Amino acid sequence: ARRWALRVHFQGAPKLEDFELVQEELEPLQDGEIFYQSEFISVDPYQRNYTLRMPIPPPFTMPGSVVGQVKDSRNLDFPVGTRVVVYDGWREAGIINPTTAGNHGTGLDMVRKAPDIGNLPLSLLLGACGMPGNTAYFGVTEICRPQKGETVLVTGAAGAVGSLVGQISKVKGCKVIGFAGSDDKVAWLKDNLAFDEAFNYKKTTMETSLSKGVPQGVDCFFDNVGGEDASSVIAAMNVCGRVACCGAIASYNVKEPLKTTAIQYFLIRKRLKMEGFQAAQFKDRWDEGVLQMAKWIQEGKLKPQETVVDGFENTPNAFMGLFSGDNLGKMVVKV
Ligand code: NDP
Repeated sequence: ARRWALRVHFQGAPKLEDFELVQEELEPLQDGEIFYQSEFISVDPYQRNYTLRMPIPPPFTMPGSVVGQVKDSRNLDFPVGTRVVVYDGWREAGIINPTTAGNHGTGLDMVRKAPDIGNLPLSLLLGACGMPGNTAYFGVTEICRPQKGETVLVTGAAGAVGSLVGQISKVKGCKVIGFAGSDDKVAWLKDNLAFDEAFNYKKTTMETSLSKGVPQGVDCFFDNVGGEDASSVIAAMNVCGRVACCGAIASYNVKEPLKTTAIQYFLIRKRLKMEGFQAAQFKDRWDEGVLQMAKWIQEGKLKPQETVVDGFENTPNAFMGLFSGDNLGKMVVKV
């Protein structure tokens, strides 16, 4: 089976030369092990910096989750045919012992049986009904806690997490403002997802967009991007607003730390609550999130959007595309 390894640590933006396609023979199954074949592979922005925290130097398999199916099994709990979400990296297929594999540091099991999402597409288990979905779900409902009528602003709005954050906030009766990196994405947010306002952050400064489009101020800020734009939003927040610090993709590829304005001033003056969080901290309620998202999709309240890249060999390109905004909604690779 083939797997994608990281050959050297990323310097700046990920490049094709950083990766290596490795072909290897899989060993016969031992007691307790399963052989799974990947059907979809998740590429996610966090994977870039996660590689820096691996306990070993490269080369190692690129970390990440897949949705797959058990094709051979010596584990009674995971018979042949079981759909699994496996956190074992960018592999076309693999062997793992679900019982002893444990968790991947965040507390989520390395191998999980896929929750039953009815007739929804399998790939959603990596998107709206998986980690990005739960990031949006818990980030909105537990961290932002928007009240009906409040204004929710989300950056990275046309991406996997952001597009769901906006839609969940609409379900909660909020006014939703999105920022994304192209006019097409902005139009899509307004026309297809019913965002109240959306702006292209590459064309207009944050301050201009905020003063023009958000005169009422921001009550909840779901930040996927960080950097100076985040400071601008914080400065435009209302008293007792809430900031969910979800991601900081603006800084993932930079070599020097970003200079930001003094956000602490506004945090103190406006008594804001700014909270870092990780989807995995809700591991005990994981399936609740997945099933709620699936229900909203089935009821037509949420529209999950995906960009599906075809072919295992294109996984690094899909990943690199995350940093140039190639995706609308969740980027996944079809193996
Ligand atoms: P996306 O699907 O949003 O893909 C990344 C998007 O980010 C791109 O499409 C691009 O859209 C935008 N982008 C890329 N570079 C920049 C930049 N320099 N400045 C502004 N925008 C940029 O990814 P996800 O939805 O999976 O993740 C969104 C954020 O949430 C990431 O920061 C990620 O690390 C974080 N995250 C955090 C989790 C948690 O548990 N805390 C869990 C999951 C994700 P555009 O065209 O608009 O620029």
